[in-house]
Amino acid sequence: MSQSFNRIVIVGGGTAGWMTAAAIATGLKGRCTVEVVDSEEIGIIGVGEATFPSIRNYNRLVGIDEAEFLRATHGTYKLGIEFRDWRVQGERYFHTFGDFGETQGPHALWGQYRRLADPAFGELGEQCLPTVMAMQGRFVPPDDEGRAPYKYAYHFDATLYAGFLRRLAFGRGARRTDGRIVGVTRRADGGVHSLRLADGREIEGDLFIDCSGFGSLLLGKTLEEPFVDFSRWLPVDSAWACACERTGTALTPYTRATALEGGWAWRIPLQSRTGHGHVFSSRHIDADRAREQLLRQLDGKPLAEPRLLRFTTGHRERFWVHNVVALGLSSGFLEPLESTSIFLIQSGLGHLMGLLTSGQPISDGVVADYNARAVREFNRIRDFIILHYCLTARRDSALWRDMATMELPETLAFKIDAWRRLGLLHLQGDEGFDEHSWLAIHAGMQHWPERTDPVLQELPPDEARQSLQQRRHAIAESVARLPSHEAFLGQVLARGGT
Ligand SMILES: Cc1cc2nc3c(=O)[nH]c(=O)nc-3n(C[C@H](O)[C@H](O)[C@H](O)COP(=O)(O)OP(=O)(O)OC[C@H]3O[C@@H](n4cnc5c(N)ncnc54)[C@H](O)[C@@H]3O)c2cc1C
Repeated sequence: MSQSFNRIVIVGGGTAGWMTAAAIATGLKGRCTVEVVDSEEIGIIGVGEATFPSIRNYNRLVGIDEAEFLRATHGTYKLGIEFRDWRVQGERYFHTFGDFGETQGPHALWGQYRRLADPAFGELGEQCLPTVMAMQGRFVPPDDEGRAPYKYAYHFDATLYAGFLRRLAFGRGARRTDGRIVGVTRRADGGVHSLRLADGREIEGDLFIDCSGFGSLLLGKTLEEPFVDFSRWLPVDSAWACACERTGTALTPYTRATALEGGWAWRIPLQSRTGHGHVFSSRHIDADRAREQLLRQLDGKPLAEPRLLRFTTGHRERFWVHNVVALGLSSGFLEPLESTSIFLIQSGLGHLMGLLTSGQPISDGVVADYNARAVREFNRIRDFIILHYCLTARRDSALWRDMATMELPETLAFKIDAWRRLGLLHLQGDEGFDEHSWLAIHAGMQHWPERTDPVLQELPPDEARQSLQQRRHAIAESVARLPSHEAFLGQVLARGGT
């Protein structure tokens, strides 16, 4: 492994490429050159508009001002995801980035809620501050970030976000070459020496970051790193994407995911338009029927013809091989249900930056460790996404029958068993989602432990009742005083700055 990464070449100028360029140009300023090679002619995928709260850490680290970012990307705030029709048609639940109080022991809030089983308490979601905010279309950021009872993320226009990061990276010294890569020259050790462009130019580098999208130009095509296929658990392999005009309806501070016959539809509200898409399994529904179903979901006039995208869920066996590190779609893709792709880019990038800035030698062991962590992270999120499907009570179409009866990955089967038998939210290392998120899905899907944990009896019922009532009232009262999402966003957008 070469130790001097003086010339870093990033292949691809989509979200992954420009997030990487902006981070490296900021964190390694003056220590290396950063060159992005992409092709205007090929373009970017242009979807990927709902995010995870960690995006805010990324924005903060590269010094992005929130108001400027929201203006430039037509962004909105996201408190979580509303799931419609996943357990049975007609039901909905929220997975927000907030806590449900204690999750273990005699004070476990969900446990006392179940034990008392009093309809007067309403839904468990009413015990979660951001869920109530989302249900009422209100938004404010938490006061005290460190101890906040909730987190938030954004929705944005993916093309505008890539352009925004590109300007930022240019400002910090990154360069760009526009050209189609048609060949790759290899080093004696198997790594990449240079890229050959269609017009004959050659670009050399020490470290190549493959952000070339589904084509996986360096890691997949050149180094032929095998693909680990997840489609037996996550069979969706296609999506129709279509933006539509914003209607007069209120700007919801959440993404919506509606389960359909052969997949699910997303709805992502931006300031200027609403993004819609239908992610489906081509084994379970044909593309024309899926397109019709998407058009029925639109809540405004379409701004363009729907675009069809194809993919396979899974990841490359290794993410870093020789002097090539893949980030973004070139490394793998879990379907977009929980908006985790940009999170995974950021997570890989964070670890890579940590190694590059540490000054420590990049040994084979360090690379093996990077790869093992990335695989664990993909597996944990894969399990979390499968949980949304496998708990379904729907039997109205082949997809849902298959999802309800599939053989689960061992790691997920273990977690489901620990919850069902013991009421334990068992987490492993490198989890993308905490126990509140796991609880939100179990609760939303009405999937509860088989017996009441005797430890819950330690709390007298009156005390439990009072604590649930107080929390519910306190949340309801504070949410009633909050501004609407639209009003709060309007105030932020009106703030000074460029
Ligand atoms: C249907 C769908 C919905 C999604 N929704 C979400 C979501 O809500 N949230 C989320 O976090 N993620 C989502 N994603 C994932 C998200 O879109 C991607 O993670 C993100 O856009 C990053 O893409 P990328 O930069 O890896 O690839 P791309 O945007 O495809 O960029 C690839 C780059 O490589 C360049 N390139 C490729 N080949 C060559 C070549 N030969 N020569 C030169 N340049 C080349 C291209 O020009 C382009 O610049 C979704 C994905 C899909 C398919």
